[in-house]
Amino acid sequence: MQENTKARSFIEEFIAQDIAEGKVAGHVQTRFPPEPNGYLHIGHVKALYIDFSMAEKFGGKCNLRFDDTNPTKEDVEYVDAIQDDIRWMGFHWDKLVYGSEYFDQTYDLAESFIRRGLAYVDEQSQEEMRKNRGTLTKPGVNSPYRDRPMEESLNLFRRMRAGEFPNGAMVLRAKIDMASPNIVMRDPTLYRILHVKHHHTGDKWCIYPMYDFAHPIQDMIEGVTHSLCSLEYEIHRPLYDWVRDHCEELPAHPRQIEFARLNMTHTVLSKRYLRRLVEEGYVSGWDDPRMPTLVGLRRRGYTPASIHDFLQRAGFAKADSVVDIRLLEHCIREDLGENARRAMAVMEPLKVTLTNWPEDKTVELPCENHPGHPEWGERLLPFSKHLYIERGDFMEEPPKKFFRLAPGREVRLKSAYIIRCDKVVKDENGEVVELLCSVDLDTLSGGPGAARKVKGTLHWVDAATALPAQLRVYDYMFPEEDSDKGEDETAEEETEVKRDILDSFNHDSCKLYDDALIERSLGEAQVGERFQFMRQGYYVKDKDSTAEKAVFNCTVSLKDSYKPE
Ligand code: ATP
Ligand code: MG
Repeated sequence: MQENTKARSFIEEFIAQDIAEGKVAGHVQTRFPPEPNGYLHIGHVKALYIDFSMAEKFGGKCNLRFDDTNPTKEDVEYVDAIQDDIRWMGFHWDKLVYGSEYFDQTYDLAESFIRRGLAYVDEQSQEEMRKNRGTLTKPGVNSPYRDRPMEESLNLFRRMRAGEFPNGAMVLRAKIDMASPNIVMRDPTLYRILHVKHHHTGDKWCIYPMYDFAHPIQDMIEGVTHSLCSLEYEIHRPLYDWVRDHCEELPAHPRQIEFARLNMTHTVLSKRYLRRLVEEGYVSGWDDPRMPTLVGLRRRGYTPASIHDFLQRAGFAKADSVVDIRLLEHCIREDLGENARRAMAVMEPLKVTLTNWPEDKTVELPCENHPGHPEWGERLLPFSKHLYIERGDFMEEPPKKFFRLAPGREVRLKSAYIIRCDKVVKDENGEVVELLCSVDLDTLSGGPGAARKVKGTLHWVDAATALPAQLRVYDYMFPEEDSDKGEDETAEEETEVKRDILDSFNHDSCKLYDDALIERSLGEAQVGERFQFMRQGYYVKDKDSTAEKAVFNCTVSLKDSYKPE
């Protein structure tokens, strides 16, 4: 496994330095804080990897903390799925906690901020607040409520909590600096009114803390020493520090360190867009095999090892970059090349009849399960008078370099005989429906003509014993390379009109081969089992399979277009 050690070590170096300077009292403590409002995607795995591996490296611990301070979009479905995904990737959390468990403490701290003149209740409308916030070049304007007496804010905040006001009537804001060059510091909102049921705390609360207030408090309560997050939180760090430094009640002193988000070509790594793909019916669900979610990748046939390998190779630099999706494909191809057993499947069958083979004779031909693993043994392929080959492996008038089947030409059938095409049968429309071939009986392995060379070897299945299947072959969801802009979701209020990324969704990104035939031995395949279909690609058995018809998803093609730099 090759590692980008130089780039990877910047977080490690910070932590090591903190330890050397005596800034870490006990053990190193990190946390992975997903918001349970969607499924984890491969970008989250980068964060997971950093959070867990930094704890491990320094003999520390990592908590799984559901960042559930925003009740509107959250759901228990996601809470369960996220845990499944983390386990599947092989990470082990120390404590499982919910940000909402700290709502009481967070509320008490908010009151304490008000009493100390660090926060006030603002009754401006959202529109007024937006207007008065200023811009990058223009300082903000103080709210007329900014200097109201502390008792008045405290009283209003308590009445907010008691449910006396409708959504949006007022908010609790930090009193920092409306002229700060960092807009995040211009009296940010700490609490807002939301009359909604919360999936964890039910109806207990109708006010909820904002991420920027809740997160440092949660970190401090848990004794987090290093709060690692993606780069879009960099401009929020002064606010993180401000909240931390005004919580004398909590002795911990966590440090926020940012790393680059993972962005990938031809896909989107943002829950907001992934949710839209699901909800607006672009894909069949969060686990559609085209999705970069862990459930999607798993269903597509990816292994945890290949995803780890990918992250190592993509590196852990500080600066944002877009990683070529073909690197991910390269990693799974390597893994499956080594670890997937071989089998034969015909996507678009063309009938072959062996004219010099007896009607009722079937032989069982041994075929290796993996050329690199003799210890995996062999399976038996039934072979009889009626077979199927790939329609694309036959051409009536082939160009010179076509080393497959054509009238008068010979090919070897994998692990079986050499056959020659003698006659082509067509239907009334002139379409080729059957090939009449003769088989050279001496050419079986061990036979007198076994060494006879022909240019092409084809995959095939035996007509009597082959099983029906649907093969699903995928293309990229987005034809454009740079579909993933890694946008800042924290900038909720910037309502610039942008081109809708989903407009470029590739609606032909899932191709179904409904009449495919697979070799007999695949009848025993389990859902989730992975194979190399000879000359076709790597495939995994899908959960949509029925007793009558198996469904296989193409994980990745055999051909590697990735060029390592
Ligand atoms: P999204 O933008 O996809 O909605 P998010 O940041 O809102 O992601 P969270 O559930 O809040 O999703 O993320 C949990 C953790 O994962 C955060 O620490 C976040 O920084 C990190 N993370 C999210 N997306 C990526 C990514 N593409 N690359 C690296 N880390 C990420
Ligand atoms: Mg987030």
